Amino acid sequence: MSAVPSSNPLVPVEEHRARILAQVPVLAAETVPLLQAQGRVLAEDVASDEDLPPFDNSAVDGFAVRAADLAGASREHPRSLRVREHLPAGVVAKEPVAAGFAARIMTGAPVPPGADAVVMIEVTDGGSPEVTVYKSAAPGDNVRPRGESVRAGDMVLARGSVIGPAELSMLASLGRSAARVIRTPRVALFSTGDELVPLGTAPGPGQIRDSNRYGLIAQVAELGATPIDLGLVGDDEPRLRALVARGLAEADCLVTSGGVSVGDYDLTKRILGELGSIAAYRVAMKPGMPQVFGMTPGGKPVFGLPGNPVSSLVVFDQFVRPALLKMAGHRQVTRPRLLAVAAEGMRKPAGKTHFVRAVVENVDGVLHVRPTGPQGSGILRSLVLANALMILDQDLESIAAGDQVPVELLSPGVV
Ligand code: AMP
Ligand code: MG
Repeated sequence: MSAVPSSNPLVPVEEHRARILAQVPVLAAETVPLLQAQGRVLAEDVASDEDLPPFDNSAVDGFAVRAADLAGASREHPRSLRVREHLPAGVVAKEPVAAGFAARIMTGAPVPPGADAVVMIEVTDGGSPEVTVYKSAAPGDNVRPRGESVRAGDMVLARGSVIGPAELSMLASLGRSAARVIRTPRVALFSTGDELVPLGTAPGPGQIRDSNRYGLIAQVAELGATPIDLGLVGDDEPRLRALVARGLAEADCLVTSGGVSVGDYDLTKRILGELGSIAAYRVAMKPGMPQVFGMTPGGKPVFGLPGNPVSSLVVFDQFVRPALLKMAGHRQVTRPRLLAVAAEGMRKPAGKTHFVRAVVENVDGVLHVRPTGPQGSGILRSLVLANALMILDQDLESIAAGDQVPVELLSPGVV
């Protein structure tokens, strides 16, 4: 087996993440129906074949006029124009607007030839077949000129853009009913441990429920990747080997929980090590130190996460999440770090980065952070209570109340 002996030095978090991101591939592109492109990364530059809007059109409900006809018009000196046509959106004028004439026009309707401005209905008496206008107009007033949003030939969406609502609307306005996007990873997961029972089975003496798998599946799904649930396996070499093979056959990435530490039954580490360039690491972090990572000969990333419930979720968040985002074509793969004012002082030994479960609150635009309670790597409760991780750097030994500390929000939009 190729696992690194556990006496190996601790690897800094950033170095470990960089090692992973350097090896993980970006997946191939595929074409999907437009609405399925939401949240996906565009795999091509998109240029427009057309001007948008495709014709000069009215920005308001009112009257299309020749500005020259209204020179000097005011409330005291109103002008009267003959109204010939009524133009709702979608209707093209039958004839040009001649001097002394106007056309009643609604928002979005093409401005008829001859007219060079639109006056809002509010500055007229709304009359027909004769309208009185109480204000002058300048050429171009209330006209949305052809091509003001996009000109034919313009590049409007760059490859690598994340497709959100505005991008979807833009693609639709260009007539695209499908989009070329990067594939999202299929991620096979399973839990390991003789002591675990699945939901639906009452734990016997010494047993606990397999909880990690559910959290990990949710983390995969939250990214827009596709989880493949391979269930739960005991500490059993042949069955572990078979599940690893199945996961790698069915998915783009394999994630396991448990069995990567130095215990007598930490078989996952050994079985994953059989794949070749897969190694065990001691990452300088708390929680989540023991981890397995590597690429299969076929180029698929394999992550062996530690079994402690908080460790598995935090290691996923810090390493697997960025890797899966990279596979899906994202360029921003780590969570943005914000600074928050620490509500209380804390001490820690130097040597590991601590990811402290915490609550961030926005008080008049200033972020404040406080830990959620006991930080043992099995204490899921304090992660449930958290909306952020407070990051206490490897070398740091203490912070004082009032210090600015980096935080990563776990649920963006909550503060
Ligand atoms: P391991 O990493 O396999 O040595 O497990 C470390 C600790 O995490 C042990 O207390 C396990 O019982 C617990 N654990 C492992 N896997 C799971 C799981 N899927 N759900 C809940 N707890 C787990
Ligand atoms: Mg175990």
